[in-house]
Amino acid sequence: MTDKPVFKLQFPAAVPDETGRTILVTGGAGFIGANLCRRLIDAGDRVICIDNLETGRPENVADLVHNPRFAFFRHDIVDPFDIDGPVGRIYNLACPGSPPKYQLDPLHTFKTSVYGGMNLLELAKRKSARILQSSTSEVYGDPEVTPQSEDYRGLVNTVGPRACYDEGKRASETLFHIMQEQQGVDIRIARIFNTYGPGMDPEDGRVISNFVMQACSAEDLTIYGDGSQTRSFCYIDDMLDGLTALMEAPDDGGTVGCPVNLGNPGEFSVSELATLVLDMTGSRSGTTHRDLPVDDPRQRRPDITRALQMLNWAPKVSLRDGLVPTIAYFRGEIERQEKLKGN
Ligand code: NAD
Ligand code: UDP
Repeated sequence: MTDKPVFKLQFPAAVPDETGRTILVTGGAGFIGANLCRRLIDAGDRVICIDNLETGRPENVADLVHNPRFAFFRHDIVDPFDIDGPVGRIYNLACPGSPPKYQLDPLHTFKTSVYGGMNLLELAKRKSARILQSSTSEVYGDPEVTPQSEDYRGLVNTVGPRACYDEGKRASETLFHIMQEQQGVDIRIARIFNTYGPGMDPEDGRVISNFVMQACSAEDLTIYGDGSQTRSFCYIDDMLDGLTALMEAPDDGGTVGCPVNLGNPGEFSVSELATLVLDMTGSRSGTTHRDLPVDDPRQRRPDITRALQMLNWAPKVSLRDGLVPTIAYFRGEIERQEKLKGN
């Protein structure tokens, strides 16, 4: 891990850090990352985006690359790197988020959370930067309690197909905590629950992208298992509000470094989601059932008391309201794909 040459990143035209806020976003060409980069650029920050484009797409940041306050570097965070100049904040969003994607190369997924996390913690220490880790509701595994509060320790299969992601994220939480306790790194940990919205990869295999794409393409919606399993879906704008609030929350003596659930407590079964998508798209698609993936959690719903108390944050966008721009976005993606194919 350490015998590789250190990749040195430099802001191309040496744009000065006028705001005193240069922010590194890893995974910045992915779904949440690209939306976050755009939000930070709009707020006047200088943004360095690092992404290996494993699941991210260049088109997600195409509107940003000509902005002098934005710099994109294709790099894998598993490989050590350094940055010339100041960095005040680091959002570590690098890691494939979709189960079929993170299971393609389980070893690399695990290394991304652990080696990548360590590289970023060392960078944060060198730069005296605050660093936020994007953890996940998957640390609760297949939970036996509902809703899940941060005190619940979870039920995760250490050797199942999801373990590379779940255990990688659990280990990263431990790593971040140790680096805070032992080395004084200023950390934040967000346990993100299912998040959706414009910017998702239509092909990434998650339930909202699959259902909306299928409904808009007159294909049957693929329900895995009997569809009674539940998820809680948070709209991207709410998630960005939560992530930035957590990053900027004043240090109150250590508690801001604790994991914080960020998600929408509205809970829907997968079958209910299918019915809603069919209704809102006006689609004539039907539904078809496929096998439930191994270790697929039966239920998931965040207890957001801590986020409410610590950050005064709660999501504002209902699933129905969030699906409106999401459906419009996926329709645009279908049109774009059709044009590329010359249809
Ligand atoms: P995504 O797959 O769309 O984006 C992840 C990005 O990270 C991609 O651009 C990918 O190319 C990049 N990446 C992956 N491994 C990398 C590596 N080793 N080095 C550099 N870049 C790398 O996923 P997302 O939904 O945007 O998720 C962002 C983060 O939030 C992830 O860490 C994910 O685990 C976490 N999260 C997301 C959700 C969700 O519902 N979207 C839920 C829980 C946690
Ligand atoms: N799912 C489904 N059909 C699909 C994709 C997913 O029924 O086409 C189910 C999946 O089995 C899970 C839920 O939808 O129960 C959410 O899956 P997703 O991959 O979006 O995220 P997860 O929360 O499992 O990480």
